[in-house]
Amino acid sequence: MASTPPSFTSALPYEAARIYAAAVYCSDGRIGDHVDDFLHNGLGLPRYDRVACPGGPVALSGRFQAFWDARGVEEQLRFLAQVHDVKTVVLIAHANCAYYLRRLNIPPDRLDIEQRDDLQKATATVSRLMPSAKVLCYLAHIEGSQMRFDAA
Ligand SMILES: [Zn+2]
Repeated sequence: MASTPPSFTSALPYEAARIYAAAVYCSDGRIGDHVDDFLHNGLGLPRYDRVACPGGPVALSGRFQAFWDARGVEEQLRFLAQVHDVKTVVLIAHANCAYYLRRLNIPPDRLDIEQRDDLQKATATVSRLMPSAKVLCYLAHIEGSQMRFDAA
C-alpha cells in the first residue's frame, strides 16, 4: 500500500445507466482485471454487476461442500434480478482456482471437468432464479502471462 489518504476522488466518470448484466466469478484478486477486460471488451458489457465469491459459480452448483460458503449468493442474484432487472448472467470459472484445489480438494487433473459440470449446474440454478435471463458460461485459462476466456 502506497499511502492511506483520508479521501480519494476517482478520475473515472460515473455513468448512471445500467446495462442489465451481471457476472459471477471467483474473488481471487489475480483475475479481477482480466474479468473486467473480458466483460468490457470481449462481451461489450461495461458496468456489469459483480458477484464475486471464492470459486465463483461453484456457489450456485449445489455442491454440498460449498453449501455454507455459498450462503447469500443466490440471494444476491435474486436481488439483482429484482432491483437491477438483470437479463444476462455471465458465469466464469478459472484455472488454478484455490477454492477447488484447496477447499474442495479437487485434483488438478480433474479441475476442468469438475468446473464444466459445476457451470452447467449453476446455469440451471440461475435459470430457476431468473427464468428469462440469458446465461453465458466461460472457463478462464492461463496462457503464459495471459488469460484466455473460452465458452464452456
Ligand atoms: Zn478461484
